Amino acid sequence: MTDPIRIAILGAAGRMGRALIDALPQHGTLRLGAALDRAEAAGQNQEVAAGVPLSADLAAQTGNFDVLIDFTRPEGTLAALDSCVAARRGMVIGTTGFSSEQRARIEAAAQRIPICMSGNFSIGVNLCLALVEHAARVLGERFDIEVIEAHHRHKVDAPSGTALMLGEAAARGAGVTLAEQAVYAREGHTGARAANTIGFSTIRGGDVVGDHSVLFLGDGERIEITHKASNRANFANGALRAAAWLQGRPAGLYSMTDVLA
Ligand code: NAD
Repeated sequence: MTDPIRIAILGAAGRMGRALIDALPQHGTLRLGAALDRAEAAGQNQEVAAGVPLSADLAAQTGNFDVLIDFTRPEGTLAALDSCVAARRGMVIGTTGFSSEQRARIEAAAQRIPICMSGNFSIGVNLCLALVEHAARVLGERFDIEVIEAHHRHKVDAPSGTALMLGEAAARGAGVTLAEQAVYAREGHTGARAANTIGFSTIRGGDVVGDHSVLFLGDGERIEITHKASNRANFANGALRAAAWLQGRPAGLYSMTDVLA
């Protein structure tokens, strides 16, 4: 029997961290090696699972894991990059809301270690990405494309990483560049809708885990591709599957599409 892959969870005290700890026993090839969060996080030094206390010192824990799964904030991810590069540990990055400079730092680190990064680790959302790209290619410019997303009141970035991925998929299918065609806000006298743009609308409130719809609005008909997450287990299971897949891969920046291929 091969040794289990040892996982570190960064952000272990958070919503996704807890979902990962709950889902881990269902993944027989994985075991928890380290649980990490900020020094201020509740539960420091207390066990999150048998024999694994919550710790704030990532550098001191690199001997206890093979792959780190990160669901924190961009500054948490970037701080972890250096330790993982130095110790040659792979990373699964689920955190969202990176600036282009922060993303460039992750790309640079991926030249040294394997990194799997996705704004959404659910298998259903990854299927929707393929459906949206196909729909945009078939429907062409006679259909206007709008992305609507809803999340719980605690979410700090907008639009969601998933909404941006869906927008990218739609742009690829439509043959346009999202950075040039995205409309992230409308207010006041906006004028008529510009052709070939991709609009985004954001809803925040309550305990919504994550709803996303891509609308293709034509004359006389409209198509809607919708995904609704009702718990975080689907993200956690996808991230754990990515961690198992990543172990032993060469350095590079991988996505969930690579894991599911
Ligand atoms: P959360 O606020 O419940 O948890 C975040 C945790 O990270 C907290 O425990 C916090 O103390 C910790 N943290 C923050 N900054 C840190 C730092 N600098 N160093 C170490 N730990 C730090 O948030 P959440 O709902 O679990 O979401 C976390 C991230 O994951 C967000 O960016 C969210 O958008 C993203 N997310 C991604 C997916 C996906 O499938 N990719 C799914 C859900 C959430």
